[in-house]
Amino acid sequence: MDNLRLPRAGRCKWAEGDAGNYTFPCNNRIDAGSSYCTDHRALVYIPPEERRRNRAAVPALKKIAA
Ligand SMILES: [Zn+2]
Repeated sequence: MDNLRLPRAGRCKWAEGDAGNYTFPCNNRIDAGSSYCTDHRALVYIPPEERRRNRAAVPALKKIAA
């Protein structure tokens, strides 16, 4: 069976592997309009507070570099 090599409709599209050699090991069901299960969505999408922290860190790094 070669099912791991294609994302399935209605299933998590979490991919692992290198370019051209992906597998889709996660078989969790997803909501309509989502690409990932809740577990993997948490890994893919950065929470707003995390994003704010990263954005705040960037100007500080630039200042140090300049
Ligand atoms: Zn998943």
